[in-house]
Amino acid sequence: MKKFKSLFLTLIAALFLAGCAAAPVVPQQSAAQASAVAERLAGINPALEDPSVKRVGLDIDDTLLFSSPAFDKGFAEAQAYTDEFWTIVNASDEELSLIKPKTIEIINAHKEKGHEIFLITARNEAGGEVLKKYMASLLDIPEGNIYFAPSGKTELLKKLQIDAFYGDSDSDIQYAQEAGAIPVRIMRSPDSGYKSKYNPGSLGEFIVPDSE
Ligand SMILES: [Mg+2]
Repeated sequence: MKKFKSLFLTLIAALFLAGCAAAPVVPQQSAAQASAVAERLAGINPALEDPSVKRVGLDIDDTLLFSSPAFDKGFAEAQAYTDEFWTIVNASDEELSLIKPKTIEIINAHKEKGHEIFLITARNEAGGEVLKKYMASLLDIPEGNIYFAPSGKTELLKKLQIDAFYGDSDSDIQYAQEAGAIPVRIMRSPDSGYKSKYNPGSLGEFIVPDSE
């Protein structure tokens, strides 16, 4: 009977130890899964990791600024895309547009690495001095680093020797690729009034998470 009891206890102990040994397997698996998800979400921004990057360009509308309210004012007060329209839009950002915090975070990370920051917008230059002054003071960059490129950005990106370019629209990603720069997608706010040319990831580019 004593022998039986001892065998019984041994069995219990063996089961207990087996349980202990098996237990960590589940947490290990879920930790691995969690870290895979975290990695996908966090990702590795190639523009910040690539040591050859020195000159960084960014689009403005829906990339640095949520500027739909400034555009709405332009549409309400002038005929769309006239010089009058652009003068209104270019003068309205400080009052109406929202600054996208994730993009500011990225710009600061590049600055910490000693990178030079350029802004390249597809807006028309009419009344653009107001926008330049606002952007230059907001980011503490020279006004001379802010460019208007309403008929495409590829040549300008090449001329300025931009190594990485951030934008929300498919065309920004294409311009970057054409100019041999690293393309990085900033997500467009679902509230943006601009809906076209937006297929994040479709060009194989890195997408900045939580950048809406
Ligand atoms: Mg844009």
